[in-house]
Amino acid sequence: EDGADISGEHKISREDFVVGRILGEGFFGEVHDGVYKSPTGERIRVAIKTCKDCSADVKEKFLSEADLMKNLDHPHIVCLIGVIEADPVWIVMELYEHGELGNYLIENQYSLSTATLVLYCLQICKALAYLEGLNMVHRDIAVRNVLVASPECVKLGDFGLSRYVDEQEYYKASVSRLPIKWMAPESINFRRFTTASDVWMFGVCVWEIFSMAQQPFFWLENGQVITQLETGVRLHKPQLCPPIVYSLLTRCWAYEPSGRPSFGELACSLSDIHRMEVEL
Ligand code: ADP
Repeated sequence: EDGADISGEHKISREDFVVGRILGEGFFGEVHDGVYKSPTGERIRVAIKTCKDCSADVKEKFLSEADLMKNLDHPHIVCLIGVIEADPVWIVMELYEHGELGNYLIENQYSLSTATLVLYCLQICKALAYLEGLNMVHRDIAVRNVLVASPECVKLGDFGLSRYVDEQEYYKASVSRLPIKWMAPESINFRRFTTASDVWMFGVCVWEIFSMAQQPFFWLENGQVITQLETGVRLHKPQLCPPIVYSLLTRCWAYEPSGRPSFGELACSLSDIHRMEVEL
């Protein structure tokens, strides 16, 4: 049999899809856009992730992202529609037509207000506070892993790479893909990933947002980053970043994990800051 929805609520079947153009290249294979005709007859635009060399081993890893996502339900987390487990394996998600936040920031850099940028930070922070409540760590928080659903709504995605592999394998599998410039010191030094290291990465992601998707530490080699961090060097305040937001970032970048704020606290602060920016 062909389509079985992992959530168990409804089955999806390949015949209910029209596959469109290639949206991008994922870690496992191409991602296409498409249209899904739901059991109620509604037509939903979707993104279909495919898996190129899908041996049993790879398939398990590919599907682990969906396995994780099926338990998540949050307005600022990418929404899984279902999985087709028979070859060719598909992971189907809601389509966010404005694409990756990084590219969106570059394309719209002259029209985005400070209030909107704070709103994106707040939405990502709420998604992470939700994960914090589930004791889940994301491990790859960056603007390349956030999708833009509408000019007022972003969604945290990419639960794949970081979650299915144990840390040893993560390191070995893809040294070049390790996001060193986003990582907390204890993640770089000991490959230790916790909610506190997610908080550090969130700080770097906020820095990217106010820098209009510049690469953090682009002036350094990966190998130089840890030395800099250990001498106390941190990313500078981006020009567009309000000082009150930057003071939160410096707290996210406390060397000791226990010195960093929680996502709950950050969400409260960002919510206050957003309200103030809207009133300005
Ligand atoms: P992987 O995590 O496997 O490397 P990605 O999630 O980064 O794959 O997907 C590859 C590309 O497909 C991304 O650059 C993104 O632009 C696009 N994409 C993925 N999911 C969606 C989606 N739900 N809506 C719109 N575009 C998407």
